[in-house]
Amino acid sequence: MDERKGLKNRGMEREDVDDRRKAVSELTEVEFDAIASYPFDPSAAKSNIENMIGVIQIPLGFAGPVLVNGDYAQGPFLIPMATTEGALVASVSRGMSVISASGGANVKVFSDAMTRAPVFRVRGVEHAAEVMDWVNSHPGELEMAVASTTSHGQLLQVEFYPNGRSLHLRLSFGTGDAMGMNMCTIASEAICKVISDNTGAELVSVSGNMCTDKKPAAINSINGRGKTVVAEVTIPKDIVEAKLHTTVDAFVETNTRKNLVGSAMAGSLGFNAHAANMVAAVYIATGQDPAQVVEGSNAMTVAEEVDGDLYVSVRMPSVEVGSVGGGTKLPAQSEALDMIGCRGSGMAPKLAELVAVTVLAGEVSTVGAQAAGHLGKAHSELGRPSR
Ligand code: NAP
Repeated sequence: MDERKGLKNRGMEREDVDDRRKAVSELTEVEFDAIASYPFDPSAAKSNIENMIGVIQIPLGFAGPVLVNGDYAQGPFLIPMATTEGALVASVSRGMSVISASGGANVKVFSDAMTRAPVFRVRGVEHAAEVMDWVNSHPGELEMAVASTTSHGQLLQVEFYPNGRSLHLRLSFGTGDAMGMNMCTIASEAICKVISDNTGAELVSVSGNMCTDKKPAAINSINGRGKTVVAEVTIPKDIVEAKLHTTVDAFVETNTRKNLVGSAMAGSLGFNAHAANMVAAVYIATGQDPAQVVEGSNAMTVAEEVDGDLYVSVRMPSVEVGSVGGGTKLPAQSEALDMIGCRGSGMAPKLAELVAVTVLAGEVSTVGAQAAGHLGKAHSELGRPSR
């Protein structure tokens, strides 16, 4: 192996990636024909991966069309979904057909802030209170620290969680159209330095886990993280019966006993049937961080009978998406964003609305299937290899 271009080589020209893959192939005695086949210049991924040896491909389908009546997303959409779960796209498409026949889904982004939560070591409760006073009385210095690191990021809020000799701060940022995790982390480091320099509080970690990133956490359900989005649809009784082959009462009962009571009994943070399925498929297709499916699965599905018809909503308190930054600039992911008109500046709220509507469609279809007793049948017909 050429020492310059060994496993540690960070080069991202195609030649570098080929050399690295050959080295891994020799070490593992595996041929990488499929992993080696990809059409784009790997330097496009230079801020997305280290030790790149190729590409894993995930099948991409579309669900829809779905009619959306959002503040940002308006009209019919075909939603890109990348998945290996047979029956998922078909099920979401069925939900979308029900939503469209019912006049479309209403959807709103209610709040938008990304968080980072550093933890400081303080001398005790008096010192914690002094640090909090200093932070509260010097907002300009914190804002200047943020502005030195980013032009789109803005500090929106500081929450304090003192605990003995630890002081946790939860910093909330506006991040423009970026999901914002890199932006917030870099800005938080600058804020922490200013706080440390002026108060003597010693920074232990820029992420003290009250953020909370990529871990199930009630704080995200309650306070929100990223975008808090709610989508709803009212499905006329005859459409419930004709398209979902169930009744309004059976749908509501299934949702209540399963998504609300069952989830509460299990201590689940997700009060939904399978929000993670739709979130993962759309996130992977559009270049979002797939680990944030954890927060995306934080969703509550509510179903009620209203004037004889079926009202269904999903509340998603932590939809962490961007239309710029991260994996959104990769070629295939950019094309998928173009498919829904969500590439680039100004498009992040629209993307969040479409994620929530896609989750709503998946919930309508799956809860409907369970109310009608059809779930196993769909999976055995569409999701199993033919025998
Ligand atoms: P990023 O790609 O690191 O940063 C976004 C960039 O886009 C910034 O340079 C920003 O410039 C620029 N930008 C241009 N137009 C913009 C617009 N309209 N709105 C907002 N920004 C705009 O992306 P990120 O969203 O901050 O971070 C996402 C990445 O972080 C993902 O790859 C994810 O996997 C990773 N991640 C990191 C951590 C961590 O702890 N660091 C945790 C989880 C995930 P300005 O900053 O100058 O405004």
